[in-house]
Amino acid sequence: MSTINKDRVAWLQGPSAKCEPVPPASDFPFRLVLLGAPGVGKGTQAELLTARLGACHLSTGDVFRAAGKTPECEQSPAMKEALGYMHRGELVPDSTVWEMVRERSGCLRCAGGFILDGFPRTLGQAESLRRLMQEEGLSLTAVVNYDLPAPEIVARLSGRRTCEKCKAVYHVTERPPKCAGKCDRCDGKLFQREDDRPESIKVRLEAYEKSTAPLISFYEKLGLLLPIAALGTPEEILERTEPALELCRTRRWAQLRWAAVENHSS
Ligand code: AMP
Repeated sequence: MSTINKDRVAWLQGPSAKCEPVPPASDFPFRLVLLGAPGVGKGTQAELLTARLGACHLSTGDVFRAAGKTPECEQSPAMKEALGYMHRGELVPDSTVWEMVRERSGCLRCAGGFILDGFPRTLGQAESLRRLMQEEGLSLTAVVNYDLPAPEIVARLSGRRTCEKCKAVYHVTERPPKCAGKCDRCDGKLFQREDDRPESIKVRLEAYEKSTAPLISFYEKLGLLLPIAALGTPEEILERTEPALELCRTRRWAQLRWAAVENHSS
């Protein structure tokens, strides 16, 4: 298991904050995007994968939630507007999201790698990410697409509880904490995210179908898609994902080596 920086301050607070310690560098870091409808367990898998692979968990939703905790007088007008979209369960406009991600592009260059969770969520965002990575000479290792039937998604979302301190995720029946309402890890209070309430769940699933589902074929065409069935416990899903990712990394490494040899000889 890798030593990782769990605070992700450069991601959560922006480029003026520096991660301490800096995540350890890897020779061939994992650079991943996690796709899947809200509730498939991307956040949980991102945490588990971070612990296994060492790459940092970069969630755009976490940035908005962190910004929502700052005093209102310190929130920029764009951020206030973004929080309004989030509370209604709607997608924040691409321009606002992209501005926020672009500001944090240092995290995409991090030598420890990254696991993007909740971004990109529209074709526009996916194109912007592709262009930025191309400019930076970076490439994605894989795009994991977690697949789950709709009724299971609704059950997962409505029972989800999150620790207000360390962000650990629980489920009232599937993954309950040892002591009701309290985090096993840090004793923090568990809460239900505003956007996990029934009225927001419906809006979020509709937004996913309309805006995010098309990303599956976008990444399939780029040869990056890795479909994973999201049924079972988080550990079972992880055991399914990790060997498949190792295979993707080896294949990607071979492709890049081959391209470098061809460039050199032409
Ligand atoms: P998440 O934790 O990823 O489910 O994100 C929570 C909420 O933040 C979403 O329902 C959106 O309102 C907003 N959000 C997060 N990431 C994005 C994104 N990439 N594009 C648009 N809205 C986003």
